[in-house]
Amino acid sequence: PRHELSNELTALEGTSYGRYKSLRGKWWTGPAVLDISQVQSDPYAPPSRVALHFDAEAADLPAEWHATAERRRALAVLLVKRFKKAAETRDLRIDAGGQEILRRSSCEVGADGTVVFRLGAQLPGHGRRIAGRQAARLLCELLPDAADEALAVGEDEAMRWARHADDVAALREAVAAAGLVAFVADGSMLARRSGVDDRPLEGGVPFAGPESMAAEFTLPHAGTVRGMGIGPGVTLIVGGGFHGKSTLLRALEAGVWDHVPGDGRELVVADRSAVKVRAEDGRAVTGVDVHAFVDHLPSGDDTRRFTTANASGSTSQAAAVVESLEAGARVLLIDEDTAATNLMIRDARMQELVAKDREPLTPLVDLVRSMADDHGVSTVLVMGGSGDYMDVADRVVLMDAYRPEDVTERAKALAARPTGRRVEAEGFAMPRARVVDPRSVSSESRGRQKIRADGTDGLRFGESEVDVRSVEQITDHSMTSGIGLAIEAAVRRGWIDGKATVAVALDRIEEGLGTEGAAELLRVRDVDLAVPRRFEIAATLNRMRELRVSPGEE
Ligand code: ADP
Ligand code: MG
Repeated sequence: PRHELSNELTALEGTSYGRYKSLRGKWWTGPAVLDISQVQSDPYAPPSRVALHFDAEAADLPAEWHATAERRRALAVLLVKRFKKAAETRDLRIDAGGQEILRRSSCEVGADGTVVFRLGAQLPGHGRRIAGRQAARLLCELLPDAADEALAVGEDEAMRWARHADDVAALREAVAAAGLVAFVADGSMLARRSGVDDRPLEGGVPFAGPESMAAEFTLPHAGTVRGMGIGPGVTLIVGGGFHGKSTLLRALEAGVWDHVPGDGRELVVADRSAVKVRAEDGRAVTGVDVHAFVDHLPSGDDTRRFTTANASGSTSQAAAVVESLEAGARVLLIDEDTAATNLMIRDARMQELVAKDREPLTPLVDLVRSMADDHGVSTVLVMGGSGDYMDVADRVVLMDAYRPEDVTERAKALAARPTGRRVEAEGFAMPRARVVDPRSVSSESRGRQKIRADGTDGLRFGESEVDVRSVEQITDHSMTSGIGLAIEAAVRRGWIDGKATVAVALDRIEEGLGTEGAAELLRVRDVDLAVPRRFEIAATLNRMRELRVSPGEE
């Protein structure tokens, strides 16, 4: 049966490259069905798209391995990584992802034990002629062999991933039930090899949390784990430069995703709604209510519906905070390295020199307390350069040679000595709701060129391009694609309908993406995608220069 396609390909040897198109469709290559969904027009074009479908019997995976949604997601990642390792040729391009365990289109395991691999295949040519025998080897030998090898996973390895999936799910639940916003297990390795290599640093110092912040959880398989629990409210991370502050914060940012066994951050979890916010001058901001941070501009612009094509560092960060809250973030993560100083602090001396009525900015230090107390939004901030946050912090963690120490008591004692600084805000008010005009974010209205991701830097959306470099929790190229496709689906399906507020539209999108099976996105055949959170989708929408919004009902 495998030979039918093989015979066809061999027969096409030496004919014009365009005739590969005649192969589109489904082929029985026993034990799997090969679906050739898209064929490249020449040998130098992006690879053709193929999918290999195994029914449960052919995949032959024990039911235990895929008994829950979490296990299926982990198993799919394990299978796709094995596939990539097994593929002996660069002409099979499968998206195996990085260190995260995400739902990807490149491999899906169904509740019934079916398995599908989706990948690119570079169909070989001799110039503009079909290299049929090579193509037969690629599609009828190398491809099924790689899949077979992937599926030949051993009991020990598969169950290690399944148990890991159970443990992380249980840990997330327990951490939330304990009222914590994040947890970092002792023994974790937070540091990465380099800025471009996300694997764990070898020989780094393992994490060891302070006694006073210790939290303990019992997981179904790993047993008792102990580590640092970060409670709600305002958490300040201080310490000298190079002592590991940003590394800890980045681990929390990544803690919204699950990680593969051996990553070092397997048992580092953050509230699923934790959002990294940062300054990003030059970005577009559309109709965002930033008045809590920015008011009385010399230009007279209304900051309750603030729009600019070229935001400053401080306004871009203010917009990022407000947009994250609008999307439903319950935890904000901020690092001094990427923050706008004038949005973070305004010290006593500057308050003396520049009167409040000459300063449109209200620094975050005067708002985080109210965000926590009045709105239940926690912040975790890295701030090694200013002591003013000691006044408002619930806890202060000092990083000393990569080891966290609880210095809350000392910081409180220091905060008791007045600096002469005055609080400059009465409180934080949640932003006004916005409604997105679906036409302004539809790729269809912008020419034939559809969605294309440019790594984690940008997203081409029809004729226009969205810069997402500063949306730091986007993990990879495929997630960028997933965001674009989610937005397109949201417009097509009326989840963004010109009436629903951003929050409601995101609820609908999340529901659409979340329910297994309903995720039509994963069935998209001509691009690799990973499923994003609502926050990455919102952040991308908000960065579209064509975005148009109207005020929501109050
Ligand atoms: P900070 O933000 O305090 O200036 P970083 O978090 O940027 O410090 O860390 C400085 C350097 O130390 C980075 O190169 C980082 O990879 C490394 N590092 C961080 N944590 C560890 C660790 N636990 N073990 C070894 N190296 C680490
Ligand atoms: Mg730093």
